[in-house]
Amino acid sequence: NNKDIATPKRTKEILEKHRFSFKKSLGQNFLIDTNVLRNIVDTAGVTENTSAIEVGPGIGALTEQIAKRAGSVTALEIDQRLLPILRDTLAPYPHVNVIHKDVLEADLHTLINEQIEKKDDLVVVANLPYYVTTPILMKLLEEKLPLRAIVVMIQKEVAERIAAKPGTKDYGSLSIACQYYAKAETVLTVPKTVFVPQPNVDSAVLRLTIREEPPVSVKDEGFFFRIIRGSFTQRRKTLLNNLVHHFDAKKEKALIIELCEQAGIDPKRRGETLSMEEFARLSDVFVEHYS
Ligand code: SAM
Repeated sequence: NNKDIATPKRTKEILEKHRFSFKKSLGQNFLIDTNVLRNIVDTAGVTENTSAIEVGPGIGALTEQIAKRAGSVTALEIDQRLLPILRDTLAPYPHVNVIHKDVLEADLHTLINEQIEKKDDLVVVANLPYYVTTPILMKLLEEKLPLRAIVVMIQKEVAERIAAKPGTKDYGSLSIACQYYAKAETVLTVPKTVFVPQPNVDSAVLRLTIREEPPVSVKDEGFFFRIIRGSFTQRRKTLLNNLVHHFDAKKEKALIIELCEQAGIDPKRRGETLSMEEFARLSDVFVEHYS
C-alpha cells in the first residue's frame, strides 16, 4: 500500500511534519521497505489470534504491518518524543497500545498479565536498537516469558553468532545461551539501504522459536552458563587453560584434567568444539567441586 508509514515518501512527510531528529544513541534506524517489514511479520507467523509485543516502534513502520494481521500489538518505546507521532500515525489501529517505557527496565511478566488480554499466541516482533540487542534478547529469554517466538531485525554478525553451530567461527557463549532457550535461525539478510538513516552494518532477521523444555537438563543452570563463559574467555586457548584460569586453580590443574575426563571431554579441546550436551556434562561434574 503506497500510503503505508514505511514508504520512503510517507516516512519523510511524518519526520518533517513533526520536525523529528534522530537520536543515534537510541539506535534509531527506521525501516522504509514494506516488503522487508511484511517478511518480518510472515516470519513471526502472526495471525488474528496473535498478541504481539514490539520493542521500539519508532514512527510505527513495523507496528502498522503487525497491526494489519495481529489481534493486538503492545509496543514499548523509550523516546518520549515519538509518543505524539505514534498517536498520529497509528490512529487507524485501535488495537495498538503504545507504552512509554525502557524495555530493559520493564516488568514484562506484569505487563503481559495486565496489558495483554489474549496470551495463547504471544510473540515479540521488533527492529531492535543495535546498541542493546544482546541485553534485550537475553532479558526476553531468561525471564521465561510465555512467548512462542521472538523475531527481530538485528546486526547480521550478531544474528550469525546467535544461530551458530558448534565448531564454527561464530559459535560461542552467546550461541549456547540463546539456543538453550530457543531454536535459532537467521531467516533473511538485508542491506543498509532499507533504513533511514542508514546504519554502518548489514542486518538480518533472526527467528527464535521458544522451546518448551531446554535441550539439556543440568543440575545448576547458573553454573552451566558460568562454565560456558569461562570456557570461551580466550577463544584460542584450550578448555584446560581457560578453566584453570577461570577457577583460579593453578595448583589444581590435575584436578581440572581429571574432572574433564570424568565428563568424557578431552581437556585439550577448545570450547568452540563442544556441543551444548558436552557442556552440560562438564557442568554437572564441575559443579560438585566448584559451587
Ligand atoms: N520499529 C521502528 C522501525 O522499524 O522503523 C524503529 C526501529 S529503531 C531500530 C529502534 C527503536 O527502539 C527506536 O524507536 C528507539 O527509540 C527505540 N528504543 C531504543 N532503546 C530502547 C529501549 N531500551 N526500550 C524501548 N525502546 C527503545
